[in-house]
Amino acid sequence: MGKVYAHRDLKICTKDCLCLFVCPTGAINNETGQKNQKKCIGCGACAAACPAHAISLIPVKMPPQQSKNSKVIEALQKIVKNKIEELWQIQYLLNKSSSADEKKFLKALYHSNKVVLEDIMREKGYMLPESKNTQIFLQDILKNSAENKDIIEKLLALIEPNE
Ligand code: SF4
Ligand code: SF4
Repeated sequence: MGKVYAHRDLKICTKDCLCLFVCPTGAINNETGQKNQKKCIGCGACAAACPAHAISLIPVKMPPQQSKNSKVIEALQKIVKNKIEELWQIQYLLNKSSSADEKKFLKALYHSNKVVLEDIMREKGYMLPESKNTQIFLQDILKNSAENKDIIEKLLALIEPNE
C-alpha cells in the first residue's frame, strides 16, 4: 500500500481520546480530535487503539476508479431517476402535511431515500472525488448554475484528478 493518512469518522467517534495518547507525531488536535494530514505518518497506531473503530487509514493517492459496464450504468441510471422522483413526491407530501408524526416519518423516509440515492450515484461511477466523472460533473454544475459557485471552484482547485 502507498502512503496513507488517518481519517476519523465523527459519527462513530465516542470521544474517549485514546488516539490522542498513542499518536507519535502529535498529529491529533487536543481540542477537536482532528487529524493533521501534514503531521500524520500513517503508522495506524490511532486506528488500532480506537475502541469505536472510528479511524480509517486512507490512501493519500487513490487508485483510478474502475470503469463500469454500460448495461450496469444504464440500469443504475433508471434507479437514480426513480429515486429522484420519489424524493420529489416525499417533499411534496412533506409540504402538504400538517401532522407532526407524519412529518417525522416523511423526513426519515426522505433521508433514507437520499442515502440510497447517494450510494447508487457512487456505484454509478462517482465514488472518488479524484475521478474524471466527478470532475466533469462539478464543471457541468459550474457551467449551468450560479449556485455554490465559490464552493465548486474551491473543490475543483483542491481535488487533483487521477485519471
Ligand atoms: S480513540 Fe476513537 S473514539 Fe476515541 S477520540 Fe479517538 S477516534 Fe474518537
Ligand atoms: S496514523 Fe499515526 S501519525 Fe497518523 S494520526 Fe494516527 S497515530 Fe498519528
